[in-house]
Amino acid sequence: MKNVIFIAPPAAGKGTLSDFLKEKYQYEHISTGDLIRDKIKQNDEEGQSLAKTIQAGHLVDDNMVFHLLEEKLSKIKQNKNFILDGIPRTLQQAMKLDIILRDLDFSDYIVIDVDVEENILKKRVTGRRICSNCKSAYNIYFEKFKPQQENLCDKCGHELEMRSDDNEETFKVRYETFKKNNEQIIEYYQNQGKLYVLDNSQEDQTNILNKLDRIVGAKVD
Ligand code: AMP
Repeated sequence: MKNVIFIAPPAAGKGTLSDFLKEKYQYEHISTGDLIRDKIKQNDEEGQSLAKTIQAGHLVDDNMVFHLLEEKLSKIKQNKNFILDGIPRTLQQAMKLDIILRDLDFSDYIVIDVDVEENILKKRVTGRRICSNCKSAYNIYFEKFKPQQENLCDKCGHELEMRSDDNEETFKVRYETFKKNNEQIIEYYQNQGKLYVLDNSQEDQTNILNKLDRIVGAKVD
């Protein structure tokens, strides 16, 4: 199995795709957004400043993102596959990430460009609820992704919460930033022959997960 980097707009459903790879192939899921949110929970000065950046929908400073990421990657064992979710968000990050992955001997990866239409993304963002404990994701606007009991996690029973940046206003900023940078990132990985495209617009995930399965096994037609 190869390591996987997901490139996707906000709320493209990377969490669900990652859960599938975690369960089926024991991938480790590394989300830079989660690393930043964990740092914010420390509630020190740095954390408070990060909270403001996230709330505004802006990108966090590269030094901070890479510091958190390198710390996390250094704990990953060589025989464990991982998914990177949330990075790179700029061409500069893509190039820096390559250097870090090479230095850590993690160069064997593929990049999956997860495509979803904008109007679906908006609905996914505003309906998204996350478990405060195990971070499982739900969506109150899609039958298949609703929790069985209102506002409680199916897996661990803890309360669900809304991310502070999951509102229409912040989504607009995040989506515009994504569109601005995405073309260059895609081209960068296309030129390296590492890029696969996965359309994740459908609510029924069976075909999508089958295709993902084929991509990570690199048996795509
Ligand atoms: P996400 O959970 O991936 O949607 O990320 C939530 C927020 O965390 C983003 O809107 C950014 O403010 C910040 N963030 C996450 N990953 C990065 C990154 N690679 N570079 C800069 N900021 C990031």
